Amino acid sequence: MRRVSIFGATGSIGQNTIDLIARAPDAYDVVALTGAGNIAQLAADARRLNAALAVTAHDHLLDDLRAALEGSGVEAAAGQDAIREAATRPADWVMSAIVGAAGLAPGLEALKQGATLALANKESLVCAGKLMLATAQENDARILPVDSEHSAIFQALIGEDMAAVERIIITASGGAFRDWPLDKLAHATLEEASCHPNWDMGQRITIDSASMFNKAMEVIETREFFGVDPDQIEVLVHPQSMIHALVGFRDGALMAHIGPADMRHAIGFALHHPDRQHLPVERLDLAQIGSFEFRAPDEARWPALRLAREVMARGGMAGAVFNAAKESALDGFIEGKLLFPQMAEVVEDTMSQLNSDNGLIDATMTLDNVAQVDHLARQTAKAVIENKAG
Ligand code: NAD
Ligand code: MG
Repeated sequence: MRRVSIFGATGSIGQNTIDLIARAPDAYDVVALTGAGNIAQLAADARRLNAALAVTAHDHLLDDLRAALEGSGVEAAAGQDAIREAATRPADWVMSAIVGAAGLAPGLEALKQGATLALANKESLVCAGKLMLATAQENDARILPVDSEHSAIFQALIGEDMAAVERIIITASGGAFRDWPLDKLAHATLEEASCHPNWDMGQRITIDSASMFNKAMEVIETREFFGVDPDQIEVLVHPQSMIHALVGFRDGALMAHIGPADMRHAIGFALHHPDRQHLPVERLDLAQIGSFEFRAPDEARWPALRLAREVMARGGMAGAVFNAAKESALDGFIEGKLLFPQMAEVVEDTMSQLNSDNGLIDATMTLDNVAQVDHLARQTAKAVIENKAG
């Protein structure tokens, strides 16, 4: 039996992971499931999968979790330290699907124990890519990408020589506001930004898709994970979300990965790697689909893409600043303090206030330093947001 843990089990990626694991209950020994506020879901899944441990991120919900698990034999725990401790429990395969920088610490712990880390939490690579890769290498652990674009790139590269790669193209649906007049964006509501045309995902990544902060993070994720130069990475708007990424080789060939907009493909690929096993996803009928569209991304509509280039040019801990500022700006939009286009302004202002003259930004990348930079960037972003709101 393979020992598996799922961090962020109650979210969109977590639930899709559970869907696959629950189809073959005898194949998996579930070590730990973690969640946050949705205790009923966490407890129900822990019971159903007979998990050894269930952890909520919220200390104050420990009693509720204990009550929901009563008589099940599942151990209950709460708090960020407990989540981190859960990641030290031996497992063969660990899904990293917490949203935000909170996913970094448990991901690192899982790598330290040599587990295979299925990485949906792109924030880990944006904040601390070098640290993640070094930790994996030192502990003989493996990171497998779960973001659909990165799983697609990974699959297109199987058996290929990286030296023959000329460019990597990641596609973007364009999100909720792809076709909106630019002057209407300032009036976009939270509800409108929370509807994705193709994918059913958590609210935060859905809004990040509308602003293209998600794609900006994925550009940085591509650079960190595949080690290519920033100018080898392109973004292409593809409204159908069926081609997930393309790899261009020096002989002019482009290898495209095509599949339905269903995360169970990328999750299942990482779960069964290096095998390919049957997955319960739709088979595309291309004749029925008829055509695919492509367009260049408009940087006036999506300034996040330009900011990603700046992060890569700066290097060091600029990714941690960018991610924390982005998370704060997103909170500001969700809380009604910022207009939709102001999210990018907040990130840009925070990045320019915390430039590389600041010693901390250039410090060696350790979990503690990343946490300090994250904290500083959130404080700075908060002040920028208050300034705008006031
Ligand atoms: P979600 O909001 O649906 O779920 C997030 C999970 O994290 C939940 O289990 C929640 O309880 C937990 N969580 C939230 N805040 C936490 C905290 N502070 N500490 C500990 N746990 C916390 O999000 P999602 O859409 O499943 O996305 C998860 C991750 O996967 C994100 O990094 C996202 O960018 C990435 N991702 C998601 C998709 C997708 O299709 N949903 C695709 C590619 C990548
Ligand atoms: Mg993606």
